[in-house]
Amino acid sequence: MANPLYDTLFGRHETSDRPFLHLPGGTTLTYRAFLASAARYADALIQAGLTAGDRLAVQIEKSPDALAIYAACARTGIVFLPLNTAYTATEIDYFLGNSGAKLLLCGPANHAALAPVAAKAQARQETLAPDGTGTFADLARDQSGTTPIADRSEADLAALLYTSGTTGRSKGAMLSQRNLLSNARTLTDLWHFTESDTLLHALPIFHTHGLFVATNITLIAGGAMIFLPKFDTGAVLDALPKATAMMGVPTFYTRLLDAPRFDRALTQNMRLFVSGSAPLLAETHRTFEDRTGHRILERYGMTETNMNTSNPYEGDRRAGTVGLPLPDVELRVTDETGTPLSKGEIGTIEVRGPNVFQGYWQMPEKTAEEMREGGFFITGDLGRIDEDGYVTIVGRGKDLIISGGYNIYPSEVEAVLDAQPGIRESAIIGAPHPDLGEGTVAILVPEGDGQPDLEAIQTAIAKDLARFKQPRHYDIVPELPRNTMGKVQKAALRARYAEVFT
Ligand code: ATP
Ligand code: MG
Repeated sequence: MANPLYDTLFGRHETSDRPFLHLPGGTTLTYRAFLASAARYADALIQAGLTAGDRLAVQIEKSPDALAIYAACARTGIVFLPLNTAYTATEIDYFLGNSGAKLLLCGPANHAALAPVAAKAQARQETLAPDGTGTFADLARDQSGTTPIADRSEADLAALLYTSGTTGRSKGAMLSQRNLLSNARTLTDLWHFTESDTLLHALPIFHTHGLFVATNITLIAGGAMIFLPKFDTGAVLDALPKATAMMGVPTFYTRLLDAPRFDRALTQNMRLFVSGSAPLLAETHRTFEDRTGHRILERYGMTETNMNTSNPYEGDRRAGTVGLPLPDVELRVTDETGTPLSKGEIGTIEVRGPNVFQGYWQMPEKTAEEMREGGFFITGDLGRIDEDGYVTIVGRGKDLIISGGYNIYPSEVEAVLDAQPGIRESAIIGAPHPDLGEGTVAILVPEGDGQPDLEAIQTAIAKDLARFKQPRHYDIVPELPRNTMGKVQKAALRARYAEVFT
């Protein structure tokens, strides 16, 4: 009997008294205690009528118990399906219908609101609160934790993880045990994680970044996590001196830089800061190094593929790039026909390797559309590979602007605008334009309370950008719309500015 995912991540720690989770308030959960709780939840899942291969939809706040549900799924072979805690009943309706989940685990406060959608999907409903109470906790409490570990292979499905829905409706990515394990092993080695590490964990655990990248690496290494319910700048600053590593989205880093007490002394115990899920501004990278002496390591991945590239641990971490393909990942840049382009040319990023998912759940046509013969997955991101192999993302294919027949890569224009005095950040989108097809709209966020001088900015950027790339319309806003992973919601911006040229 074997279960590679459970055995590798969890099983070998069952009798370990080493710390696994350091919790707010000063308590620590050992591996042994965490896995005993996971075993009781595994019993409860079986009691509730689930069996290997069934989907368990989980929309609960981050907590040790929530993480134990993931371990319980690995133990029983039940497919883990975590959902963003911000999703409304209407959204959950789609995920339950699409996934055919047998059970919906939700917070006690959401039970009533979600009852109709659970009933419609014929899913059983149970509750679990962050403090470890709820109907499902009650069911688990009296269990013995002796459910046998399900016999599974690396080819079996471990999780159904829905994409963030940045470019359209979320798609369920089927991830096998091999997908998760290969990536976690590769990153543990590459980023030098060991049992001496304490990872500061302030990310959500419904997304690949906090769930698989952060947690699986810690489990493989046998290290500990400072497990915070969410990113709160004060709490993160307090925890930093006790941590050795942190993973975050770019907004974590800009918020830390906004805090006056964030400095070199506070980070002297740290050996690694990792950034991903959205582009890290080169300026943030530089400011962070000036303030702390640390160079943030930026990497690139997605729900469907886990991680694809990383800046080197030892060696040059280049600001504005996502580094080199991981050792077991092939990455190429292609034109519309799928023909690989030369170094330096911009095209679509495609990846192949043991990290690449098994397809979209019940969407064979969509899967076929994004998969080349030979196993390369078409990521939908645009980028280039430079002479020494570093990959730069220039944006998403769906964000590309075609104006008067010319291609405009929003990130190029954004970089020029971000560098102007008085500009904190910017977003470039295309809006329907009667002559040009699309016209470029610049949405600017000023630094502090200042009002940027638009005329001066327009004159300044004319030196760096061809006329056709220069924005046709400007707006100044206090902040850009972002989701919990720090991704700018360009679809929302496009809707907001749809009529500026018409
Ligand atoms: P959807 O596929 O539903 O539109 P999504 O692509 O935002 O949503 P995720 O899988 O969470 O869902 O995000 C993956 C995407 O995040 C990548 O395709 C890429 O566009 C972006 N991304 C991740 N890391 C980076 C990075 N370091 N720099 C720039 N973009 C990144
Ligand atoms: Mg995507």
